Amino acid sequence: MRQSRRAWIKEGFGQIVCITTASAMAQGLGAQGGPFESAQAESTGQARERTLYSGPIVDTHQHLWDLSRLKLPWVRGSTKLERNFTVADYLDATRGLGVEKAVYVEVAVDDSQLAEEAELIIELCAARSGPTVAAVIGGRPASPEFGQYIRRFAQSPFVKGVRQLLPASEQDLWDRPEFIRGIQLLGELGLCFELCMPPTKLALADRLVSRCPQTRFVLDHCGNADPVAFMSKTRLREVKIDRPPQHSVYEWRKGIEALASHPNVVCKISGIVARVPEGRWSADDLAPIVNNCLEVFGEDRVMFGSDWPVCLLGASLREWVEALRQIVADRPVSFQRKLFYENALRFYGLSTG
Ligand SMILES: [Zn+2]
Repeated sequence: MRQSRRAWIKEGFGQIVCITTASAMAQGLGAQGGPFESAQAESTGQARERTLYSGPIVDTHQHLWDLSRLKLPWVRGSTKLERNFTVADYLDATRGLGVEKAVYVEVAVDDSQLAEEAELIIELCAARSGPTVAAVIGGRPASPEFGQYIRRFAQSPFVKGVRQLLPASEQDLWDRPEFIRGIQLLGELGLCFELCMPPTKLALADRLVSRCPQTRFVLDHCGNADPVAFMSKTRLREVKIDRPPQHSVYEWRKGIEALASHPNVVCKISGIVARVPEGRWSADDLAPIVNNCLEVFGEDRVMFGSDWPVCLLGASLREWVEALRQIVADRPVSFQRKLFYENALRFYGLSTG
């Protein structure tokens, strides 16, 4: 077992060192030490094994789109994203990574196409032509037709929840009574709501969650933290970034803590890699965000998501998975398995195998 892990490490990362000292561990965040780690610590006194996760993965944040069928105004002009992203492309991007299942997340289509998008993805899940087994569909919880819309789709075993990005033009939306009522309805129907908003709006999300205690929520993309906010001046110079961060570390931490205090919120470890400079970042640039979310939400309320193909703005899906594997390598294998696999199965009610 240990042999095969080392072999994997060698193959995947070349120079990665398997053993870290206790002092290096102390700088990382609190691995508890499962049976494997304990055994290693006993035999070496000070050293602890780093284990790069190689088990199965559920990708909780997959996008797919066919621009001949769906209108995505936000990809217009993007050299990376203004093309089709198909199941075949996704299979290519995930080859060999162990992605067993994927949860599709709505792609901010034109309002007129919400139902069409939902129908397309339900069809895709039913066809079982790829790993996509469930979906978080688009919806407009504040609209008068929402009840009828969501009751129709809630009948599908593949539909697990709804997402509506917080529109820049309508930042009071999540405080409106009709919106809150729509989100409460999701809870009544056993569906979740995905929170995706700018990192400066975490307090809005906190208010919404407080008003809907019976609804389960997913915080997308570590609250959309901006890695730039966590880089030192030296590091910013090294990677040639001269833009200001999108938020302060303090306000983000405060927002994450407030959200994590609600037991009905889970956090997707996803998205942040889309905001690093392509080819000039390392796992260490993302580690403070990931570790903070893992510590604050705890091992049972965090789930891996690729955010492919949006992740391509900063890295390939493979690079993101490999970086996350490195960031959590000091943690117990059982923790890693929850993050990459088990928590998603439980949260979205996916069957195994
Ligand atoms: Zn996304």
